[in-house]
Amino acid sequence: MSQKFDAIKERESNLLCNTYGRYPLAVSRAKGCRLYDLDGNEYRDFLAGIAVCSLGHSRDDLADVMAEQARKMVHVSNLFYQEPQLDLAEKLLSTCAAGKVFFCNSGAEANEGAIKLARKYMRTVRNEDRYEIITLEKSFHGRTLSTLTATGQAGPIKEGYSPLPDGFVTVPFGNVNALRGAINLHTAAIMVEMVQGEGGVRPLPTDYVNDIVALCKENGILLIVDEVQTGVCRTGRFWAHQHYGVTPDIFTSAKALANGLPMGAVLCSNEVAKGFTPGSHATTFGGGALVASVAAKVIDIMIEEKMAERALKMGEFAREQVFKLKEKHPDTIAGTRGLGLLFGIELSKNGREIWNGLLEHRIVCNLTQGTILRLVPPLTITEDDITAFVQALDEVLTAIEE
Ligand code: PLP
Repeated sequence: MSQKFDAIKERESNLLCNTYGRYPLAVSRAKGCRLYDLDGNEYRDFLAGIAVCSLGHSRDDLADVMAEQARKMVHVSNLFYQEPQLDLAEKLLSTCAAGKVFFCNSGAEANEGAIKLARKYMRTVRNEDRYEIITLEKSFHGRTLSTLTATGQAGPIKEGYSPLPDGFVTVPFGNVNALRGAINLHTAAIMVEMVQGEGGVRPLPTDYVNDIVALCKENGILLIVDEVQTGVCRTGRFWAHQHYGVTPDIFTSAKALANGLPMGAVLCSNEVAKGFTPGSHATTFGGGALVASVAAKVIDIMIEEKMAERALKMGEFAREQVFKLKEKHPDTIAGTRGLGLLFGIELSKNGREIWNGLLEHRIVCNLTQGTILRLVPPLTITEDDITAFVQALDEVLTAIEE
């Protein structure tokens, strides 16, 4: 590590709450699909700020929109009607079957809003005392108290925060009987990610999704889809639920929505939207003019430049390349999983050493659940970048296996 890195690490330890297990890398600049450290070294970025900067880093076209809007109006509050918010809503609603949107600032806040909306709709529109939310094991829905409770993972992320809110049940992944058994007269919704991201890049099997939809219909409960990580073209469709031909009652978005500016959204049917009335839910910054104008431009680019198709194509290319590599390293690479550019490489052993080796080869990616290399690069990533990744992985595995 360089002296500059040691200095920034030491400086941070005196200033910030110690919540992050940081990578041993300080980033001073990011452009396109590249990151640069304090000494100017270049890294290929297969992380995109954790599936956020899907159009690549520091784009001039987004910077122009940002600068223009910043000079005109940044924030005036949701007490006022504002066109940028409506322009964004029109574009966003044109990508899906939802009828209404509520803007907020993060994935957790969007999921929190979705949970509140499901309960409120059941109580005030349907007049039923339904409040319970069923989620799946290994899901990840956020870090606020409710979304943390909804998150189907045990361990340090929940420890020390009790009492956690009531009204959440987690069931084993893929087990329809367990799901059926968990439904009762107080169930308001089943909430799922179509591809579990943090949980190890696990797509929901199609039959399982069909069963979930059928259970929701039979029991008169809502389907909430958390598209915080999967949305905005990442998986090869604008929204991951579109792969399954499913229309959620509520779904959430965040991460890639404004390509790095904090923004979240709760999208819902016109029927479910009746649950929210003035004063029932709000947020100061949500849908402010600056983030809204950038997000609107993001959606334009996503559509004009066919980013969903690109994600599918590049994901397929990565899959083919990793499959070839698996033949050379059959004891270490177990397979691939995911959809589009939410791409996981399953390892047969703990991947820490492999992840470290990749970083030494100046490749940034993520290791999740100990054995899954998670690749969520900018959707603008090229075949050359993917080939370079696979070559680096080959070198790392060859060195380790020797
Ligand atoms: N839901 C999913 C599926 C996520 O992947 C994440 C973050 O990784 C969240 C919710 C929480 O989003 P945020 O960190 O913006 O609150």
